[in-house]
Parts: sequence; structure tokens; C-alpha cells
Amino acid sequence: MAKLCYNMLKVTLLIMLIVLTNACRSVPYTNRCQLLILSESKEQEIGVESWEQLKKQYKKSTNERYNDALKRVGRNLSIAIENDYDWEFIVFDNKQANAFCLPGGKVGVFSGLFDYTANDAELATVVGHEIAHAIARHSGEQISQDILKNMASTAAGIVLESQAASALTQATLNVGVSLPYSRKHEYEADHLGLIFMAKAGYHPQAALNFWKKFGEISQVGAFEVFLSTHPMSEDRLEELQKLLPEAMKYYNECKFKRGTGVQYNFDIKVKIKSDTTRTYKLKPPPK
Ligand SMILES: [Zn+2]
Repeated sequence: MAKLCYNMLKVTLLIMLIVLTNACRSVPYTNRCQLLILSESKEQEIGVESWEQLKKQYKKSTNERYNDALKRVGRNLSIAIENDYDWEFIVFDNKQANAFCLPGGKVGVFSGLFDYTANDAELATVVGHEIAHAIARHSGEQISQDILKNMASTAAGIVLESQAASALTQATLNVGVSLPYSRKHEYEADHLGLIFMAKAGYHPQAALNFWKKFGEISQVGAFEVFLSTHPMSEDRLEELQKLLPEAMKYYNECKFKRGTGVQYNFDIKVKIKSDTTRTYKLKPPPK
């Protein structure tokens, strides 16, 4: 019993120590307080290591149209975000419709995503959302929470930085399976993503159009992973709608308004839930 109490005391003290030393880091734009075990530089170091491995694991796409689009959208987003990441944007040849951003600004888009995006603004919607997870340090936060929860239940009494580091490495290498974030993190990534695309000059209404279309897609093959980690509900669309006026302020302040940006000039045929195919016609860019 004495040993259990001692362990519990150690757990409490360690949690207090983490809370005090990390104080409360607030997420940019939302100012939500979050607890993180790893430093940002350590998270970024892991992001870069995982990125190097992923570049060996996945083949780069040779499709110039896809590469140019990601280069263009990535450059506009990274300039608008204004942080010190050493950004990299690569399209990987993979039929999955998925994208990710590792800590430190290493962005990968699977070529399958281009089958469902109609223009630069829609690409910026997905890439901006993934970048938002990285800027808000969601994977680091989730791993910190898991470790603390585990400590409290097992009373192990030891927080190892290496434990957090190895969990983050696993998560970042597992992009094909995608780390499922909590609903809170998804909503926050939607919020930040909307602001980032607006600051980059893409009309935020395009995000709502994209997520609505995305919500109707039941073609679980290419979208299986992304759909499983990003369930699109009426609530989520309503939240996005509520965030639109805030995003529009950033869009209106932006000197380089691009509307929906470059159009990809093809209609998108997707299977919808009733097993019928809907063709999404390209719309003119919003004014
Ligand atoms: Zn997400």
C-alpha cells in the first residue's frame, strides 16, 4: 500500500512538473491551452527523420500537373502562415486520396487526392487542414495525453521523454493509416485550415463546398483512410459555416485574392451514397 501511495505521489508530482515546465502552450488563433511532453524542436526532429524514411518508402509522382499544383498551393500557404518551418511539399504516387503534414512542415499529398479536387482552393482546403494539425501540434498533444493517462492508470511513476518520442515516431511513420485525431482536434484543424487558406488568398467558401462533396462520397477505396479519420457530419459542416465570417475577414484583408485559384479542368465523377454517380461541374471562382 505504501509503495502504491509513493507511486501515486510520484505520478502527481511528475504531472505537476510537466504542467509547470510546459506551462500551458496556447494553440495559435484558438488560444486553447494544451499540454505537451516533448519540446517543439524534438517533435520537428522526429518529423524530419520520419519524412526521410517516407521519401524512401513512397515513390514521388512524375505528374507535372499535380506537382505544379502542390508547389503553387504550398508556397502560397507557407508564405501566409509565416512561421519558421523548413517547408517541403511532395506528391507521392499512391491511389489513396490522402494527405499529411509532419511536425516541422513536411507535407505529403497522395496523387489519388487529385481525382477529387477541382481547383487550387480545394487542394488548399485539405493541405491547409493537415498543416493546421502540425501547427497546433496535435500529434504531440495526443501522445502526451495518452502517456499521462497510462501513467495515472498504471501508477508507473515514470515519464520518459523517449517513450513520447518513440510514440511520435510510430505515428508519423504511419501516414498510410493516419493518426486518428480526436473530434476536438479535427474541429480545430478545420478552424485553422480555413484561416490559413483565406490568408493565402483562397476563398474559404471553397472549403465548405469541398467538405460537403467529400461528405457525400461513399467510394471507400481511395478515400477509406481519410474518411475513417475525418468523418464528415452535419455538425462539422455547421461548425465550418459558423467559422466562415472569421475566415472571410482574413480573406478580405488578403492582398492577393485568388478565388478558387487554378481550375483543374475536369469534372469529378464520384459515387454517392445511393450508389449513383454524381458529376461535380466546375463552378466559376467566387468574387
Ligand atoms: Zn484532420
